[in-house]
Amino acid sequence: MNQNIPLNLYTVNRPLLGTVIESRRLTPDSRGPKNDVRHITFRFEEKLPYLPGQSAGIIVPGTDSRTGKPHKLRLYSIASVGAGDLGDHQTVSLCVVRHFWDNAATGEKGIPGLASSYLCDLKPKDQATMTGPVGRHFLLPEDFKKRDLIFTATGTGIAPYRGMLRELFETGYEGHVALYFGVQYRDVALYDDEFGAIQKRHPNFSYYKAISREETNPNPNEVPTRDNKMYVQALMYVHRDELKKSFEKPDTMIYLCGLKGMEAGIFPVLEQIGAELGEKESFVAKLKSRQQLRIEVY
Ligand code: NAP
Repeated sequence: MNQNIPLNLYTVNRPLLGTVIESRRLTPDSRGPKNDVRHITFRFEEKLPYLPGQSAGIIVPGTDSRTGKPHKLRLYSIASVGAGDLGDHQTVSLCVVRHFWDNAATGEKGIPGLASSYLCDLKPKDQATMTGPVGRHFLLPEDFKKRDLIFTATGTGIAPYRGMLRELFETGYEGHVALYFGVQYRDVALYDDEFGAIQKRHPNFSYYKAISREETNPNPNEVPTRDNKMYVQALMYVHRDELKKSFEKPDTMIYLCGLKGMEAGIFPVLEQIGAELGEKESFVAKLKSRQQLRIEVY
């Protein structure tokens, strides 16, 4: 792994002040507040070193009314390449969905999430205090140049891959990278234009979308999904011959980012691929023990 990982350069006691320079909605307004996903870019007075795949902390102003203490720090995956969207090492971009939650104790439904509402409501010129960077696990390996990579994401779990893909193709990547991206509707596929443009320029990038509410899982018996929806794991099963070709190479890496349920969905597909490759023991355990499987799910 990368030996020079920038870590905790800014902390709650010594935070970094960022000014919003962009807050762009990535999904059509017609999808309403529940599909409000934003690309938010903060600019700093100084350079902030970080690697794609790391996270930044957001300090939400004010105190928690239940504890009287400052709100807990919230971590968000960084969605920009190390040099930042402007290329000057002085910005960080986040991909944030406006979150709503239900309070089982009171029965209240659709309560706006504190941190995501704070972030999504920020306007250009507003300031926010941040910490980080943190994370040493969900990173590209230092020797990524010729390795095959498989990126799987659901929803805003796409954030780290935006930076990672730019990192790969700005530094002469020669392996093959496949992105499996699960979203509810075709028109809420985040950064779709950017990934489409990379695919046009780089034949070694395959970009696949699983559109859960518009497509059906063709193999519900082999890969069960809720209401037979098309999920990333169902699409990976369809593509298992192609995935097998990558996993025949001993150093291929796979990354999972997004909803917690992805793990239970994708692991059986990996086990099947492993079995077809002649693995006698758990393929997932082997990939984990060899640091070839990286997971960031919530
Ligand atoms: P979402 O829109 O609710 O879901 C994305 C897609 O995943 C939908 O197509 C959904 O299908 C599908 N899906 C649901 N259950 C699944 C399962 N068990 N297996 C595979 N696919 C499944 O996603 P979101 O609201 O953006 O949430 C993404 C998650 O990523 C959050 O938990 C967030 O905390 C996490 N995350 C975010 C960041 C960040 O920087 N923002 C970074 C890392 C992780 P249906 O809805 O049709 O069932």
